[in-house]
Amino acid sequence: MEALHELTIKKVHEGLMQKKFSALELAQAFFVRIKAKDKEIHAYLSLAEESAAREAEAVDLMIAGGKEIPALAGVPLAIKDVILIKGLPATAASKILEGYRAAYDATVIKNLKSEHAIFLGKTNMDEFAMGSSTENSAFGPTRNPHDLERVPGGSSGGSAAAVAAHMAVASLGSDTGGSIRQPAALCGVVGLKPTYGAVSRSGLIAMSSSLDQIGPFTKTVEDAEILFNAIKGRDPLDATSQESVNKNLSELRIGLPEEYFVGGADPEVIRGVEGVIERLKSLGIKFKTVSLPHTKYALSTYYIVMPAEVSSNLARFDGIRYARIPNAGKENLQELYLKQKGAGFGPETKRRAILGTFVLSSGYYDAYYEKAQKVRRLISNDFEAAWKDVDVILAPTTPTTAFKLGEKTSDPLSMYLSDVFTIPANLAGLPGISIPTKSARNLKPKELPVGFQLIGKKWHEADLLRIGQLYERTN
Ligand code: GLN
Repeated sequence: MEALHELTIKKVHEGLMQKKFSALELAQAFFVRIKAKDKEIHAYLSLAEESAAREAEAVDLMIAGGKEIPALAGVPLAIKDVILIKGLPATAASKILEGYRAAYDATVIKNLKSEHAIFLGKTNMDEFAMGSSTENSAFGPTRNPHDLERVPGGSSGGSAAAVAAHMAVASLGSDTGGSIRQPAALCGVVGLKPTYGAVSRSGLIAMSSSLDQIGPFTKTVEDAEILFNAIKGRDPLDATSQESVNKNLSELRIGLPEEYFVGGADPEVIRGVEGVIERLKSLGIKFKTVSLPHTKYALSTYYIVMPAEVSSNLARFDGIRYARIPNAGKENLQELYLKQKGAGFGPETKRRAILGTFVLSSGYYDAYYEKAQKVRRLISNDFEAAWKDVDVILAPTTPTTAFKLGEKTSDPLSMYLSDVFTIPANLAGLPGISIPTKSARNLKPKELPVGFQLIGKKWHEADLLRIGQLYERTN
């Protein structure tokens, strides 16, 4: 049998039911593993050993009582530090929230608690989810478990690395422009960004509210389905949330968008994705080339809409409401605000808040924000047109494999390019999944993971999960 920390959600469930191990033994095995491994990876910002032990003991009691347990009962999970768990720290990897503890549970956490999942701790990320490498964390970067010199991607780098390094069975992240799919691709795990509205955002520290979605990182597509099913659904606390209709088409045709294959991507990424296409073709799936002509405007549209929403969402972090940095601003209230924000926010966060305030300011609003909203519509329309011919779109998740720490930090634009293939799905509100082209056990020494992406119609997560599982079985 595999080591305890290598199990999938599915296998944990089976093992617990067959009493091969207890939930407490399992949770303890993970803390042993984390203490041995996380010094070099730094996937976690904080651990929740005491509460995890209590949660695990409750599951063991249920099992001892002969009760049927839910699919996630006793499953040790890691949670991005932007999702609130009552009583635990929630820093969003920012100095401005250091010392803050969440006053309530996010809806996704309530859902997982009702399934008796176990929370191991909170994971590292780019500050307020802004970045593609986890180097923007105020508490130091996370490293890629496949090569410690390289980044795990971002912004949910800690959540991706925790699963890849077997320091959690699965985890949750958030995806505003690619922050689940891009780190999943770079770390060789599965990452699903649901349809906008499929998962409640209540209790998620907001970055860009019209784009943010919470989703799972897992070792298999099958596990992603289990975790997604547990967190999705309409929530009265998030007016944009809806019940997923869970559509599933009988015969799926896959589209290859020509704009995503125009060069600029690493040869190993292209090779990996072509291998996937060949494999799916051999299973009898039909492919067709499609065009998404406004793709080239997606990145610039995102970098108007997102900072505009960031500037308004970050206004509440003033050094009074949540946490306070010692000795920053004592003179008067105005000084306090200025010094708290000055000392509390990192450079990328400041850059985006300033940019966002600018694009919303009078005289510039029409030229930037309103225009970007119109282009956003054109990008959505491209997908609508493609759905006349195909049901799912397949593309690379990222243009490159994991890059070296420090390689892109001095050049924000090259960092922003990491998300060219993921941002369009956020702008159009569509579900997207990143799946490893090769399972981790088949990677050669020094070979870096490559991810391929499936983008689906709204509410059609089931299509992505089905094709993903089909592929996974051959992998
Ligand atoms: N990397 C992108 C950014 O920096 C996406 C972030 C995200 O999805 N949270 O904005």
